[in-house]
Amino acid sequence: MRLKDQTALVTGASRGIGRAVAVALAAEGAYILVNYQNSIDSATETLKQIQSLGGDGMLYKADVSKVDEVESMVQQLKQLRGSIDILVNNAGITRDKLLMRMSEEDWDSVLDTNLKGAFLSCRAVAPMMIKQRSGVIVNIGSVIGAMGGAGQANYSAAKAGIEGFTRSLARELGSRNVRVNAIAPGFIETDMTDVLKLDMREAIQKQIPLGRFGKPEDIANAVVYLCSDAGSYVHGTVLTIDGGLSM
Ligand code: NAP
Repeated sequence: MRLKDQTALVTGASRGIGRAVAVALAAEGAYILVNYQNSIDSATETLKQIQSLGGDGMLYKADVSKVDEVESMVQQLKQLRGSIDILVNNAGITRDKLLMRMSEEDWDSVLDTNLKGAFLSCRAVAPMMIKQRSGVIVNIGSVIGAMGGAGQANYSAAKAGIEGFTRSLARELGSRNVRVNAIAPGFIETDMTDVLKLDMREAIQKQIPLGRFGKPEDIANAVVYLCSDAGSYVHGTVLTIDGGLSM
């Protein structure tokens, strides 16, 4: 129980990596706010998995790109629990298209969810963490932020932004004992990668030295490490977890 009695807010925790993160943090004793945007049934399943481990948490529907919704979510969690110790900015979407076909809406929605969403959540939570002189923030980026990806200019820009954003916050908040890191996953088995056609999937797997996609738990284990005392001197880093894809 490395996170006993701590309170964690995990965005996009209804499915995929976010669900695995929420369950893994709960398994270490943390109370979890399970944020979701649309999938109430999946979010309820995440909470059930948390409770089946003897953990506890709450569901909260909020669009991370909307300032009012993010601030209400943070305020309600603060009122209920008194503090927020861990923030995992995981909510993310893709709208892949080649540049010529990419609409302004495709660009804005991906930047708003993946990058502005992390900004809004961090800005809402940081004053509390600064005041309590402790806290951990983990932002979920992507190897595509550093590598680029054809058809992913919007997503790559957002995820590269997450890396710079993470380092800047680490410089701002480190002196207050608030640690800020990012994780850059490679290809992980979730709904996001389920849409890949078989030939594309095989082509990607050939480029991964470990020869396979990762599992959401591979990312969740790293989040637990960064949030626990085991990661207490890890700050301002981007931890790549990609089976060797981007080396
Ligand atoms: P996923 O299975 O598609 O799940 C996305 C999650 O984000 C869902 O819980 C969804 O909520 C939530 N979400 C989307 N837009 C939101 C919004 N505006 N407000 C609140 N929640 C929102 O995705 P995933 O593969 O687990 O990805 C999680 C994170 O890892 C993302 O940041 C993604 O970019 C990153 N990542 C994934 C991979 C990969 O290979 N899977 C690789 C690198 C990085 P609803 O269920 O309610 O829609």
